[in-house]
Amino acid sequence: MQIPILISLHLVQAEPIHNREDPARNNNAPKGSYYDDGDPMEIVPGIHQVDSVNGNSYIVVRESLTVIDTGMPGSGRKILAYITDTLHRRPDEVGTIFLTHFHMDHTGGLAALKKAAPKANVAVHEAEAGYISGKTALPRYPGVKGMLLRIIEKFMGPKPIEPDFLLKDGDRVDSLLCVHLPGHTPGCIGLLDEGSKVFFSGDTLRSDGKSIMRGPALFTMDLGLECESIRRIAELDFDTLLAGHGVPHRPGASSKVREFADTIS
Ligand SMILES: [Zn+2]
Ligand SMILES: [Zn+2]
Repeated sequence: MQIPILISLHLVQAEPIHNREDPARNNNAPKGSYYDDGDPMEIVPGIHQVDSVNGNSYIVVRESLTVIDTGMPGSGRKILAYITDTLHRRPDEVGTIFLTHFHMDHTGGLAALKKAAPKANVAVHEAEAGYISGKTALPRYPGVKGMLLRIIEKFMGPKPIEPDFLLKDGDRVDSLLCVHLPGHTPGCIGLLDEGSKVFFSGDTLRSDGKSIMRGPALFTMDLGLECESIRRIAELDFDTLLAGHGVPHRPGASSKVREFADTIS
């Protein structure tokens, strides 16, 4: 089916992951790192990005593996291939799969991943559990694009999966602090890894490597709440922003977010 290729969920083309404009990319990049322009894409030590899954999927590689978002439908095999072929780890080492929100460009690979790693815990904000399990009908978006989205969901929407962890603001799982960021969707979350000073923003923020932007307005359910959530992110301390779309932003990402937060209303 070609429609999903023509209009990705956010109607935003995936930017190239290897961003040649990234100011940090020439800093004596280790061979094989993100800044080496090749695979594997280790953005900071132990945090990887899986290419070509749109939205972005990240893997935190520690004693166990933590996956953050699973890309568009069909992305599960790419994430699994990254785990086995690049990380040389086993799918059953995935301990937690976080979903930053229910949109299918973030949940599309979940079923395949869960099938290969049945003991992995699926973690989602409690406000979105019903969307992931299929017990709550997905929200409807207006206009022609909303109608196209409903068609896409009908024919290639992710399979329902029962979540294991229902997150609240302030919860910690696998060293990641859950920050509730309502706005784009009611149960959007961000995840802060304080040790590496990395913040995973989901679709509340994006970056092209130079500028910070908010998520796509068309699929944002409450722009006012999203503003408040962006101000909440601006209170956090992190060096690298890893968003649901776009490319990594670093260094000094949280100060850049503070500057951006002052410009929105
Ligand atoms: Zn998205
Ligand atoms: Zn989204």
